[in-house]
Amino acid sequence: MKDLLTGLLTRRGFHEEAQEVMKDSGGAGGFALVWFNLDNFKMFNSRFGFDRGDEILKEIAMILSSIFLRDDKKILLARFSDDNFVVLTDWATVELKIDRVQEYLYTLHENITLRLRAGIYFPSEGEDIRKACDRAKLACDNIKKNHSVSSCMFHEEMSKSLALQQHILDNLELALNKNYIRVFYQPIINLKTEKLSELEALARWNDPELGLISPAEFIPTLERYREIHKLDVYAMKKVCDDYSQCRQKNLPLFPVSINLSRLDFELCDIINEIELATAVNNIPREMLNIEITESINDEDTSVLNLGIEKFRALGYEVWLDDFGSGYSSLNVLKDYSFDTIKFDMKFLSGFDINKSEKAKYIISANLSMARLMGMKALAEGVETEEQLAYLKSIGFDKAQGYYFGKPMELEKIYSELISRDVSKPANI
Ligand code: C2E
Ligand code: CA
Ligand code: CA
Repeated sequence: MKDLLTGLLTRRGFHEEAQEVMKDSGGAGGFALVWFNLDNFKMFNSRFGFDRGDEILKEIAMILSSIFLRDDKKILLARFSDDNFVVLTDWATVELKIDRVQEYLYTLHENITLRLRAGIYFPSEGEDIRKACDRAKLACDNIKKNHSVSSCMFHEEMSKSLALQQHILDNLELALNKNYIRVFYQPIINLKTEKLSELEALARWNDPELGLISPAEFIPTLERYREIHKLDVYAMKKVCDDYSQCRQKNLPLFPVSINLSRLDFELCDIINEIELATAVNNIPREMLNIEITESINDEDTSVLNLGIEKFRALGYEVWLDDFGSGYSSLNVLKDYSFDTIKFDMKFLSGFDINKSEKAKYIISANLSMARLMGMKALAEGVETEEQLAYLKSIGFDKAQGYYFGKPMELEKIYSELISRDVSKPANI
C-alpha cells in the first residue's frame, strides 16, 4: 500500500510490513523507529499554498529515501498522514542519519527555516508495532516547544506523563463534583504590621486512585486542553462559600487572592461569574483579589487588558503573579496595570545576605520600579529569617512563604495562625 503523493508506504502498509520485517530478523532488537514531523507545517501551507506544501512533503520523502534506503533492504519508510513520516531502520546509525536529513533540508531551503523533528524509539522483541509508533511520536511531540534540539529518544516518563494527563482530563468533572479538588489557603503577611493580612487560595487534587496530584501537573494540562476555567470558577465559588461560613461564625475575615488563568477571559465570562458569586454571598469586592500570572505573552493584549481594567474599575485588586519568572516581565508591566506585584520565589532562591550582591541589586531595583509605578510589592517563597530581614530592610510591603506557613486547610489557618505571632517562623 503506497501513499499517492510520495510513493512511500501508508500507515497500514507500514504496520503490516514492519511486523513481518521484525519477525524475519528473529524478533531480535537492533531496530530503531523514527517519527518525523515538520514544524509549523499548517502555517507553511497557509503562507505558501497547498501546492508548495505538497512539494515540501515530496522533497522530505526524497531526502528520507536517499539517506535511509541507501544500503539496506530491511528499512521501511512511510508517510502516516499530513507531515508525519515514519522510518524503521537499523539502530546503529540512526542518529547520524537524522542529522544528515536535517542538514540536507537546510541546504535545500536556506531562506526559510524548516525543522524536521525526530522522535526515536527502540522497539523490543515482539513488541506491537502500533504501540512502538505511539512511543516514537511521543518522543517527537516532547520537543515541539524546545527549538534547541531536533531529535529526542523516548523514555518511560513520557508515557507516564501522558497517562496522568489523560487521567486529569477524564476525571476533572468527577473530581469537582466529589470534592477531590479542594482549596487550601496560604497566609500573606503585612511586613509593616507583622500581621496576617491576606490569604491565597490554592487548589489541591487528592485523587482516590492516584493520591495527591500537584497543581504544577494539573494546571498546565487543564490550560493546554482549555478546561482551566472549570477549575477556576469552582475554586472561586469555594472561596466565597468559605468566606460566608467564616463570617457566620464571627471569625476574623481576610481578603483572599484567587488565581486566574488568562484563558478564563476567553473560555467563560469570568468577571460575570465572580460578580454573581460575590453578590450572592454578599462579599465586598475588596475582599477578593485577582492574581494573574505574568506568562501572559499573547500577541493580542486587548482582551486581558479590558478584563483587568474592568476588574479594577469594579473595585477588585488585580495582582501580577510570578513577576520575574519569565522573559516578558517588563513588557507585562508596561502593557497592563496592577495593584500589587508578587515577586517570584526565584529572586530569593539560594539567597545569602552576605554574598548575593547581584540578587540584592536586582530585587531592590525592581522594588523601586514597583514603587515608581504606584504598586505594592510582595515577595513570594520566603523561607528563612535572613530573607525576611532583608526584605523588611529594603521596604517590601508583604511576604508569603513556608517561613510563615504552607498552604493549609482553612480550619488550620484559624487554629494555628490567628492565635500566634505570624511574624515568627511556623512550626507546621
Ligand atoms: P503560585 O500562584 O505562584 O502559588 C505559589 C506556589 O508556591 C504554591 O504552589 C505554594 O505552595 C508554593 N510556595 C509557597 N511558599 C513557598 C515557599 O516558601 N517555598 C516553596 N518552595 N514553595 C512555596 P502550589 O500550591 O503547588 O501551586 C502551584 C501553582 O499552581 C500556583 O503558583 C498557581 O500558579 C497554580 N494554581 C494553584 N491553584 C490554582 C487555581 O485554582 N487556579 C489556577 N489558575 N492556578 C492555580
Ligand atoms: Ca498565585
Ligand atoms: Ca506566584
